[in-house]
Amino acid sequence: MRILISNDDGIHAPGLAALAAAVMDLGEITIVAPDTVQSGAGHGITVHHPLTVREVDVALPTDGGATTVRGLSVDGRPADCVRLAVKSLLPEPPKLILSGINKGANDGICVFYSGTVAAAAEGCILGIPAVAFSAKATHDVDFPRAAKLCRWVLGRLLEAGLQRGDLLNVNLPDLSNPAWPVGVQVARQSTAELLDNYTLAADDADGRVYKIAGDYELGFDGHDADSVALAEGYITITPLRVDMTDHTKLTQWLARDWTGLTQAEGGEEG
Ligand code: MN
Repeated sequence: MRILISNDDGIHAPGLAALAAAVMDLGEITIVAPDTVQSGAGHGITVHHPLTVREVDVALPTDGGATTVRGLSVDGRPADCVRLAVKSLLPEPPKLILSGINKGANDGICVFYSGTVAAAAEGCILGIPAVAFSAKATHDVDFPRAAKLCRWVLGRLLEAGLQRGDLLNVNLPDLSNPAWPVGVQVARQSTAELLDNYTLAADDADGRVYKIAGDYELGFDGHDADSVALAEGYITITPLRVDMTDHTKLTQWLARDWTGLTQAEGGEEG
């Protein structure tokens, strides 16, 4: 099985190396990842400059020390990496796309800000099942342990059978708590806002400088949300979809009368 691995923390991130090492037994691994940190890049793609691809040695932590594999770095966004890899760099499309392991959780509304989730979502858009892995981090993440947990979750997902259209967002709780994870919870994505505010850092002739202040804290959105389970020490699995259409609202808006556009409102002239 050909597996494409990407991330948003950059090709030299320890989370990516740990994930790649942990899933090597599943097939042929190809690493295509941003050359710089792209956290918070969301689903952006690069349109104003061509993308440069370079071969990079990636040291994978293995039991016997380290194994070096060749990866490809891209001077673009996570979504660029997956698009470019699938459309141009790989001899054939991968069977599976993995993203991560991100340093920092991507639960709740963070799925919109996250480059980690975007890389996986791009795979889903291209018809390839994809899984995003992120680990909640207060300080450092024990990536070898995180990778072991991700490998276990992935094994269970593969056992269930991943197919076209599958996009799974997996978050690990803060592993600095030795009692965690307490288990696995399949949970819906919280839609509560990111509570972080902006503080005025400078105000001079150059303009006003604002810094985001906070710890990526999310608001509360019900006990069944992923953020709650994650905060309670569970590994969370959230199936996502790229179709953002609100189908209930769609029906309501479709039921309205949309005729009546005249030339006065800018309608057709003939
Ligand atoms: Mn990141």
